[in-house]
Amino acid sequence: NPMLHLEDVYMRYPSRDGTPITILNDIDLKVRQGEFITVVGPSGCGKSTLLRLILGAESPTEGAVLLDGKKLDAPNRNRGIVFQKYSLFPHLSVMDNIVFGLDAEAHGMFLGWLKPGQMRQRRRAFRDQAQVYLERIGLADAADKYPHELSGGMRQRVAIAQSLIMKPRILLMDEPFGALDHATRTEMQLFILEQWEQAEMTIFFVTHDLEEACFLGSRVLVLSQYYQTDAGRGQGAKIVG
Ligand code: ADP
Ligand code: ADP
Repeated sequence: NPMLHLEDVYMRYPSRDGTPITILNDIDLKVRQGEFITVVGPSGCGKSTLLRLILGAESPTEGAVLLDGKKLDAPNRNRGIVFQKYSLFPHLSVMDNIVFGLDAEAHGMFLGWLKPGQMRQRRRAFRDQAQVYLERIGLADAADKYPHELSGGMRQRVAIAQSLIMKPRILLMDEPFGALDHATRTEMQLFILEQWEQAEMTIFFVTHDLEEACFLGSRVLVLSQYYQTDAGRGQGAKIVG
């Protein structure tokens, strides 16, 4: 049985004059646990929309998104997301940005039965863990900096560490390397692959770069808007490969 099943999914948005536009047209996709799925397709064809459906941030107009055979619940920590435009908290340091999710999760689980001393100890453990990730992304010296003090590529790397440290079951990445130079991009590709193997995550990775898609993906999804059907040309993107 597939872990994730997009079952005959259609996504339509109202256009300016009110008539609906089909963005995704009859997408049927079964994904097994541990797949690394890269997604390519022309700009505006619905790649981000596909990720938002898997995140559970939106519901399909028709069809269903099933996780373990059940309709998706609201976005939660089982499904992490990294956007091209980084989602860092501007008022938190790099370290606190990375620790934030772990902290929030621990509060949910432990509040009530951890003593203050144990809380401090746990928080120290989180910071040690975060420091390992910071070293791994080449930003060990940036722990106390704030997002506005970093370059775009540095912020992207922090956002990646922020989501990887949570070890989500499904990680959604929407052009996460857009601001990285070639050498850093290569390093981050290897880092993601390493984390993918260790944590047994299922990854969806949207990229403009076909070579990157083929290098990273255990499966490459190709979305097209200009496919041909028996009924003629359709509207909305389909998976064509
Ligand atoms: P991609 O990620 O492939 O560039 P998107 O998924 O961002 O494409 O967008 C696909 C199309 O859907 C675009 O034409 C976009 O304008 C449209 N779209 C996306 N979200 C909405 C929305 N909430 N309301 C109306 N149109 C939307
Ligand atoms: P990348 O963002 O891919 O790491 P950049 O070309 O943006 O590469 O920056 C190269 C290097 O210059 C960074 O690794 C960093 O050391 C430094 N740098 C760039 N922009 C800033 C900034 N706004 N603040 C501090 N250092 C910066």
